Amino acid sequence: MQQLHYRSTRGNGKKVTAAEAIITGIAGDGGLYVPSFIPKLDVPLKDLLPLDYRGRAYHVMKLFLPDFSADDIKACINGAYGDKFSAPGIAPLTKRAGALFLELFHGPTQAFKDMALTLLPHLLTTALRMEGLTREVVILTATSGDTGKAALEGFADVPGTRIIVFFPEKGVSPMQKRQMVTQGGNNTHVIGIEGNFDDAQKGVKDMFANPTLLAGMKRHNSSFSSANSINVGRLIPQVVYYFHAYLQACAAGDIALGDEVNFAVPTGNFGNILAGYYAKKMGLPVRTLLCAANENKVLADFFATGLYDRRRELAVTMSPSMDILASSNLERLLFEASGRDGEEVAGLMERLNRQGWYKIREKTAANLADFFGGFATDEETATAIKEVFAEAGYLMDPHTAVAYSVYKKYRQQGKDQTPVIILSTASPYKFARSVMKSLGLPAEGDDFTLMQNLSANSGTPVPEPLKDLEELPVRHTARCSKGGMQREVEKILWG
Ligand SMILES: *Cc1c(COP(=O)(O)O)cnc(C)c1O
Repeated sequence: MQQLHYRSTRGNGKKVTAAEAIITGIAGDGGLYVPSFIPKLDVPLKDLLPLDYRGRAYHVMKLFLPDFSADDIKACINGAYGDKFSAPGIAPLTKRAGALFLELFHGPTQAFKDMALTLLPHLLTTALRMEGLTREVVILTATSGDTGKAALEGFADVPGTRIIVFFPEKGVSPMQKRQMVTQGGNNTHVIGIEGNFDDAQKGVKDMFANPTLLAGMKRHNSSFSSANSINVGRLIPQVVYYFHAYLQACAAGDIALGDEVNFAVPTGNFGNILAGYYAKKMGLPVRTLLCAANENKVLADFFATGLYDRRRELAVTMSPSMDILASSNLERLLFEASGRDGEEVAGLMERLNRQGWYKIREKTAANLADFFGGFATDEETATAIKEVFAEAGYLMDPHTAVAYSVYKKYRQQGKDQTPVIILSTASPYKFARSVMKSLGLPAEGDDFTLMQNLSANSGTPVPEPLKDLEELPVRHTARCSKGGMQREVEKILWG
């Protein structure tokens, strides 16, 4: 069989290895790197049943990393998925209120981004060694709240790297902000911008494509990379937990091996759910991927109509990590759905950039049947939190609640009764104020008081990493305008 490599979603640009794709983050033509084909799992699913998270991760990830040695892949996996995670089994599956919840928030920052960002620094430093590169890698990242902290944790004090994170000053929760501005490490930088997440993401993308800045980096023997989900090094680790969820459901007797499941995924940048699509193409028995958006429902509209239209006001919701109008990773799905037509994708992205919308061809739309797009308003999200707590004593964070709410609507429409696995993407304590309000409980006081009150009302403990934040000093106070991001980067790197 042909050896897997990576190529851009746009045009028919050159082939690169997995190591190169991870190091550069984004392709030279502005497209995203995608595997030259989606590999099939090369062992029967039942052979993965006796394995733990790491063993399963190896069997899935090695297929996407043919240029990495088996020992290197195992070392990366062991470095990431160990005592940084507080839950046995890394990502446990729990049955509540008639649904299965895959808890992806037991890592150092209490959000699902840890699943990939504890691993990415290992993949990146291994890739640099494989390519014989000694240059410094500067991680540039835009965050809607959770990526930033998870990337900072992952890269803090990793030799040969520096990390610069931009976050929308008014677009993240107070707890998310506190997590970032208290970040330790001698190679970490955190900057608030006057703008929203899309502004931050666009600023970062522009820097990756700015020839003058790139030439300056080269002169200083350094280069940029990305910790955003545009990096395939983020995407590949995420495929693993779809298998892990499914196998846990089999082991618990909730489904039989070979049965189909649906996944409900709270979606923003489309990275998480895209990994689910890859898992399905690899052979995991998945029927439908429920793409759950909040009031910023560009994606729900897209799946209903084939029209992607981001010409609307960004709403600030109680699920801030999904307050996004330009979902980067959708480009990778468009690539698959168009029959891997780089020119078509380039055209669509050009239209999105120029006019703020595009409509896909009917032929492409016909290939999106694996998805159902839905959304939940803040009111529906709050109701879901309240209902599930009343019914099952289980606390959902607002992002997870969006997925739960969309799953309920899907069921009510009588689409199908396939068992559902809901991807639970954050600890409810990260959003204690919204959760308290949703439960109809008093939501006054600072975030640390609120966490204590939530704990008292639910009988669950406040996660240690969040409790500890109260004591930590603020280390990062830099601010800039959305036009001033490049200037900040130059100041940090070259004074
Ligand atoms: C990032 C994030 C999401 C959205 O994931 P995407 O991969 O961007 O679609 C959902 N929930 C939480 C808590 C997140 O941090």
